[in-house]
Amino acid sequence: MGEEVGRELRAVRGARLLTREVAEQVAITNGVCIRPIPYRRVDSLTGVAEVVSVPCGATLESKCPPCAKRGRQVRRAQCREGWHLEAEPVAPAEASEHQRSLIEARAHLELQRDEAVHAGVDTAELDAVIDAVDREIQAAGMVGAVAGRSGGGRVRSTRRRQDAPDLPRRLRCDTTLGRTFTGSDGKVFRPSMFVTLTLPSYGRVRDGVPVDPGGYDYRRAARDALHFSKLIDRFVQNLRRVAGFDVQYFASVEPQRRLAPHLHIAIRGTLPRAELRQIVAATYHQVWWPAVDEVRFEGDRLPVWSAEIGGYVDSDTGEVLPTWDEALDRLDADQEADPLHVVRFGVQFDAQGVLVGSRDADQRVRYLTKYLTKSLGEDLGDDAGPRANAGRRAHAARLVEALRFEPCSPGCANWLRYGVQPKGAKSGMVPGRCRSKAHRAEHLGYAGRRVLVSRKWSGRTMGEHKRDRRAWVLEALGLDEGAADSCRFVWLRVAAGDPEAGSAALRLLREVARKQRWRAELERLRARADAAGGDGLGLGVRVCA
Ligand SMILES: [Zn+2]
Ligand SMILES: [Zn+2]
Repeated sequence: MGEEVGRELRAVRGARLLTREVAEQVAITNGVCIRPIPYRRVDSLTGVAEVVSVPCGATLESKCPPCAKRGRQVRRAQCREGWHLEAEPVAPAEASEHQRSLIEARAHLELQRDEAVHAGVDTAELDAVIDAVDREIQAAGMVGAVAGRSGGGRVRSTRRRQDAPDLPRRLRCDTTLGRTFTGSDGKVFRPSMFVTLTLPSYGRVRDGVPVDPGGYDYRRAARDALHFSKLIDRFVQNLRRVAGFDVQYFASVEPQRRLAPHLHIAIRGTLPRAELRQIVAATYHQVWWPAVDEVRFEGDRLPVWSAEIGGYVDSDTGEVLPTWDEALDRLDADQEADPLHVVRFGVQFDAQGVLVGSRDADQRVRYLTKYLTKSLGEDLGDDAGPRANAGRRAHAARLVEALRFEPCSPGCANWLRYGVQPKGAKSGMVPGRCRSKAHRAEHLGYAGRRVLVSRKWSGRTMGEHKRDRRAWVLEALGLDEGAADSCRFVWLRVAAGDPEAGSAALRLLREVARKQRWRAELERLRARADAAGGDGLGLGVRVCA
């Protein structure tokens, strides 16, 4: 191939990159997904196939600003709807057709991923799709039901069981609504709460940066973040026990400036502040994992995988390392053992009563969803000057370092460092190179969900909230798209590089044009409704196509 052809190719490639960038900018200004996933939609009645772009559904602004923004709007609507319900919500059905199809899709994708890994193909794109499906599954209320992510069938010995802390208990009522109070004028109030829970101090900080980095307890900060979601679970359990009703909540996990996760939680119904304080103080979670005090393997001396045994071996002595289950059995048998870690909340605690429809309530809803589009490790944009910013970066780097060799889960490769085979051990595991997101700088130890919504919050899933908005627009436009007839269309994923999908830039611009057409049509309808003197079409509702 001549030099000239090479140059030309590079030029074409360069030009294409530029177009894509410009197209992304246009898409962002128009609120159109910048990483749409192409699907071939086959109409089983007519046989007509067309390539349709499905929004990526990313929740982080760094991945896709329009999708992140839209996701946050839907979260706000969901939060608002459940906070002050006056009638019991209808809980989502156990496993609908939709849920089953999600699970099937998930299994199928996992298979594809396995094949890709086997063939040495990059799985980044597949991972993104799997993530999206996982989110849908979670939203559908089936957390942990897929791909062996549930706790597993291991029965712990009674000694290891987390005991319930000593807390008052109310008689249990079968309601999710909380109490009402009647004012002197006969008016009925149904107060709710907004609570902020924070982890303990690890050392003094100024502007989010440790005053004395050497004295800051990074190890504890790392472990607390890793197990924060368990602590939240315990808090909810204890809260329900004390409250005496089926307390519902909408919570978000957000980063503090010191880079620790904290929790904002909207609670339906109310409890006396003193009781809440008691619950917070009494809540803890014990991590019953093998000890990690002694580093047994590091540097060049690492356990080696033996295909024969199907496990890891000390190459010097030939000793087979204990499997995860064996290590836990040993722990159970050891009467002297302490938990690896105990997580508790800090003393800082904030609880406010909130009344339905108040400006306060609306402000809290915004607050709850404020940073949802940012990752936990991301700079929150409150620029504190170059020196403070450099300090923060160094602080983040130290926390990442502290997380590097902390086991994040039973399956973490770091267990090899401490002489234990990770759960589900397979060849190629290297301590310090666990690929779980908990170790990454964007997550800083917390790999759990950012939004936690109890099942009977609004009685509707995220997907239903989304469909609601969409259905409203479709109806307004008189375009039902045969949505009710879900069996009619067959959806097939279009492979990357498939010529039928066209160039990514063109696809984006096509979506922008489509959206603009919709918006114009919506404006026209709205104007007509206004002219007719009706109450309009719900002003302020945005097209979410
Ligand atoms: Zn997107
Ligand atoms: Zn890990």
